Amino acid sequence: MAGHSLVELPAQTIRLLGSGQVITSVYSVVKELVENSFDAGCTSIDIKLEGYGLEKIEICDNGHGIKIQDIPYVAKRHYTSKLVTAEDMQSLETYGFRGEALASLCSVSQVTIATKTAEDEVCHIYDVDSEGNIKGKKPSCLGTGTTVTARNLFFNLPVRKQFYYGSQRKKEDLKKIEDLLIVYGIIRPQMRISLRHDRDLVWQKIQTSDTKGAIQSALSRQVFSQLICVEKSMEEQQGSVCAYIPKPGSDVKLMSRSTADRTLIVVNERPVHIKELLKVLKQYYCNCHGCDTSRFPICYVHVKLPTADVDVNVDPNKTTVFLKHLIEVRTFLEELLLKIYGPLDNVPSW
Ligand code: ADP
Ligand code: MG
Repeated sequence: MAGHSLVELPAQTIRLLGSGQVITSVYSVVKELVENSFDAGCTSIDIKLEGYGLEKIEICDNGHGIKIQDIPYVAKRHYTSKLVTAEDMQSLETYGFRGEALASLCSVSQVTIATKTAEDEVCHIYDVDSEGNIKGKKPSCLGTGTTVTARNLFFNLPVRKQFYYGSQRKKEDLKKIEDLLIVYGIIRPQMRISLRHDRDLVWQKIQTSDTKGAIQSALSRQVFSQLICVEKSMEEQQGSVCAYIPKPGSDVKLMSRSTADRTLIVVNERPVHIKELLKVLKQYYCNCHGCDTSRFPICYVHVKLPTADVDVNVDPNKTTVFLKHLIEVRTFLEELLLKIYGPLDNVPSW
């Protein structure tokens, strides 16, 4: 614009602009906080939403808690306990690494953090301001672990708040949250998870000892009974694929959907979107079951690869990943599907 001189944006504006991209929805808050709980080694997570999460989001875990000396930095941007050098990205085993989620959440909502480590005598609840500073502290009776509460989400982003309140989006987000918890529940059989909205139990999963039990608990026994499991290692890429996919002849009504929300694809314990793999799954499933190619099968495909061969730092929400050997992985999956479902009637044009 002519006539205006360059000015440096105030820190608070920069913070709000950045935060709006990390914390885009109630779903993204839940995703970030649940991932923090996993990274803290918990075995149980309770998620409570009020007013579809716009009034209140509370995530309570029984993980290792936050040490007293770390509290002043916990919600400061770019403070993380998970990464030091860029090289650490090569061997990253945690979900988080950017040190942005809590700081971003503080700039778009009112946050309190209750936490206790095994060494602490009592739990404390900390009030955090929009810049991530600790404003107050009081004791609480909670046990070891961490509870993060975010109230009044997007109070300072009125357009986004309006967008949520006035639309179906908040209901769709609740479904998306459930789908996310389903996939995490299967990735981590030992995890107990519950999701409540305005005190109604929306979904829950019990602790199970293996993937099979986790699928039964997270999806249903009925769905599980229609799946077959194939596990195979990819020698050359030093990886493996473990897939639970519908048996040939499975009930199409029960086992397929018009969206990909239950076509669960996981790379190294991260739920991801890889459209090339989705497409292969869909093609073989639909071809074998004689259904419309717009149907997506309900399935769970877990690809394990050396961490150095997966780039997870592609988008802030970490659902897009780049695989060094994507073509090989796709071919490998295709071969598995070919054995189970038989050849495609029309050969795809890769
Ligand atoms: P990141 O996960 O990328 O490190 P976050 O902003 O999500 O960044 O979290 C900042 C830090 O706060 C984490 O590195 C971790 O040390 C601590 N933290 C956050 N949530 C929890 C939790 N539920 N339990 C224990 N520590 C936590
Ligand atoms: Mg995090």
